[in-house]
Amino acid sequence: MTGSYVAAIDQGTTSSRCIVFDRSGRIVAVDQREHRQIFPRPGWVEHDAGEIWAKVQAVVAGALARAGLSAGEVSALGITNQRETTVLWDRATGKPVHNAVVWQDTRTAALCHELGGAQGPDRFRQATGLPLASYFSGPKAAWLLEKVPGLRRRAENGEIAFGTVDSWLVWNLTGGTDGGVHVTDVTNASRTLLMNLETLQWDPAILSALRIPEAMLPEIRSSAEVYGRATGKLAGVPVAAALGDQQAAVFGQTCYRVGEAKNTYGTGSFLLLNTGTRPVASKNGLLTTVGYRLGGEEPVYCLEGSIAVTGALVQWIRDQLGLIRSTDEIEPLAASVPDNGGAYIVPAFSGLYAPYWRSDARGVVTGLTRFVTRAHLARAVLEATSWQTREVVDAMYQDSGVRITELKVDGGMTANGLLMQHQADVLGVPVIRPVVSETTCLGAAYAAGLATGVWDGPDELRTHWRRDAEWTPSMPAEVREREYRNWRKAVERTFGWLE
Ligand code: ADP
Repeated sequence: MTGSYVAAIDQGTTSSRCIVFDRSGRIVAVDQREHRQIFPRPGWVEHDAGEIWAKVQAVVAGALARAGLSAGEVSALGITNQRETTVLWDRATGKPVHNAVVWQDTRTAALCHELGGAQGPDRFRQATGLPLASYFSGPKAAWLLEKVPGLRRRAENGEIAFGTVDSWLVWNLTGGTDGGVHVTDVTNASRTLLMNLETLQWDPAILSALRIPEAMLPEIRSSAEVYGRATGKLAGVPVAAALGDQQAAVFGQTCYRVGEAKNTYGTGSFLLLNTGTRPVASKNGLLTTVGYRLGGEEPVYCLEGSIAVTGALVQWIRDQLGLIRSTDEIEPLAASVPDNGGAYIVPAFSGLYAPYWRSDARGVVTGLTRFVTRAHLARAVLEATSWQTREVVDAMYQDSGVRITELKVDGGMTANGLLMQHQADVLGVPVIRPVVSETTCLGAAYAAGLATGVWDGPDELRTHWRRDAEWTPSMPAEVREREYRNWRKAVERTFGWLE
């Protein structure tokens, strides 16, 4: 039952996609659906995991129908997903016990502060590569165990399953209450604050500090191996890969060598640098994370600069301010003025992530005069993305000594040429977008195809990568440095709003 196609599911923060690829890595069909964003209180963000599973089933059916394929023609299925978002479900009914707590959600800020105690946010950094921050899954699970009545007892009895979205989907895809497998991959596990980066297993000391019962945790597996067979529309197809979305993009961008980096511009932005088979500790606010692990091979580690809000700021001026009607409108609006008119926006909606990790930060707009128009603000919105990226690139150099000579980019915001030019200008290196900008799905498909013998190895995958567009720096250095100083002044104003 081997066909020549590989399917990938990308379960993202705002939508779910299914893409079918052919053997040369070209897109054959796509289907996509959005799901609801639930904001119960300021700083809280939830998803309905049941709705997500329904949308995933719909896009799988949709993509297969558009491609005119049946399950028998699909060799493998790979999964990639929004990371850290935490789902707890009842193993007997298959129903989530609470809405999923999304990665952007800051409800665990106080809990993280408390857990840090005298050692502060770096208490688990050596073991996990991560600071204690509301971003990660472990504290989200700890919060739910504390707040949902009776949940801790049920979890200790083995009645409850914990999962990041990959686990939730694999469990459902492989049968759910009817024999679903409860696993996670090592990249997703590396975002929980519960996995030890050296042993690649759950860390008993951290589980006990967070009071997380081991009975609820999935088994940690590699990113590319057959976890089980799908049921439903893809009945019989091996579910053969899972990677967190950013790690999948590293894989899809074929950053297989030490020193290769990519940045993905979606709701947030995530710059990952391949640092090889040993973890590199960060002193400058980056995360150490697993990049991928193919079956029994050695794991590949990355340094990551995570930025919570980039594309989400474009959504915010569309949905909350009504300055634009669609995200496409921002580019012509911003291009209608030559510069930002002195305005800077720092979108610290969920605190600030890399390189600051300040959960007390809140967003600011600086430099307002009566001269400033909505076009200047549109420009400031786009520039917020490139400056945040510049700060991460600087931190990466300080931690690793590796100077990025070019940046491979992907994600929804790379459709914006004005932004990509500004990015090249403020980094001073070329910015390159590949033909297949769906690198997240592509990475999941590649990993699934490697696990099932569709492709021979990474060298073959490298030959698929093709350049679509490139932006070269043209901003005078003195302008760049002046603007960077202004940006940093604006960042300083975001600190200290939560007491
Ligand atoms: P995710 O996978 O995080 O859901 P995508 O890669 O689909 O994100 O990118 C969607 C994001 O890109 C949204 O936040 C949206 O605001 C932003 N976006 C889409 N088109 C544009 C555009 N032309 N200019 C700037 N931002 C855009």
